[in-house]
Amino acid sequence: MSTIKSTLVLKEHYPDINIKVFYIDIRAFGKGFEELYMRSRRSGVHYLRGLPGTVEELSDGSLRVAVENTASGGLEFHDLDMLVLAIGIKPAKSAQKIREMLGLQLTPDGFFLEAHPKLQPVDAATRGVFYAGCAEGPKDIKESVTQASASAARSIRLMHKGEIITEPITSVVIPEQCKSCGICAEVCPYNAITIDIKKKTPAVVNSAACAGCGTCAAECPFGAITMNHFTDDQIICQIDAVLEDRSQEKVLVFACNWCSYAGADYAGVSRLQYPASVNIIRTMCSGRVDRKFIWHAFLKGAPVVLVSGCHIGDCHYIDANHWTQKRVQKLQKRMEKLGIKPDRLQLEWISAAEGVRFAGVMNKMEKSRQKVSSKEIAETIRILKDREKKRRVSSGP
Ligand code: SF4
Ligand code: SF4
Repeated sequence: MSTIKSTLVLKEHYPDINIKVFYIDIRAFGKGFEELYMRSRRSGVHYLRGLPGTVEELSDGSLRVAVENTASGGLEFHDLDMLVLAIGIKPAKSAQKIREMLGLQLTPDGFFLEAHPKLQPVDAATRGVFYAGCAEGPKDIKESVTQASASAARSIRLMHKGEIITEPITSVVIPEQCKSCGICAEVCPYNAITIDIKKKTPAVVNSAACAGCGTCAAECPFGAITMNHFTDDQIICQIDAVLEDRSQEKVLVFACNWCSYAGADYAGVSRLQYPASVNIIRTMCSGRVDRKFIWHAFLKGAPVVLVSGCHIGDCHYIDANHWTQKRVQKLQKRMEKLGIKPDRLQLEWISAAEGVRFAGVMNKMEKSRQKVSSKEIAETIRILKDREKKRRVSSGP
């Protein structure tokens, strides 16, 4: 459309100009776009189906362009005074910097990604950030103005309140335990944590920016971050409750609130069958599943543990599930070193719409559970108890 518009502007300024547009396909899909295209043709612009192959400079300085006309099937040569390449739009280089500053997501082609293509088309996943125009993808003026108006309205909604009510599920740093390592700030998908590593000051969470995924709490190596709601104690108590009785018959599943837990719900309402041995512990994000929860589950006699979350790229908390994946992979390696079969810990991505997949994964987990013997579970408990003892000794009284 940009090329079509340019031809009309040129014709307006230089009525005698001879313009040829070489194209593969023209899809003038918007309101009034087809009319604009037809107007360009009526004004005398030639549209030729086929892209130029070679360009040769002639002795008089003009250009000879070889084109395979895909409409007629013939090879044509066109002598031109000027050849203009009509290229697509690339995102601004600064997009990457802004992404890092605000904790935004980019599409594979480098434009900003909206929180939801249909329900939140101008919102970023980071709260309080809105898009307009080509930031989010190539757009014409009308679309840009529409999106800008929507973004302005969304911003006003936030600003006119005076006070913003945030979700209560946020992380809290325990300053006395913080060693200022900076890991939490690195993993936070929302850049909600600030820390001055050089000054060795404790990390600070901006609770208005924190979305409550729990990744920082799971990744802090010093246990210096706790969550408001979904606390460590609450989750450990749930693990204890699940494995208190006949632990060998249980499949312990950590399911993220937005995808896998909703997938379980979907399986339920669709009346899909999955084994009764499955016991689900809900966390807001799979990123919240701390290593210590997994070790605790095995220590309490869990035969198998599943961590499940949103598919990569669909995480409700931008990319928190990348950290889940890394953590599970590290844990599996550690298990192998300790002499515990690593496939007793599994990771699966299940979306809210994948009820059938949820039931399938649970059946698979049940089959894995049946392969784990009582002897193996007892040996795992012994290994983990020994490990605990050694740790206590090395860290002193
Ligand atoms: S990861 Fe833990 S110890 Fe490291 S800076 Fe964050 S809160 Fe402090
Ligand atoms: S809970 Fe998630 S969003 Fe909040 S500070 Fe921690 S990593 Fe960031």
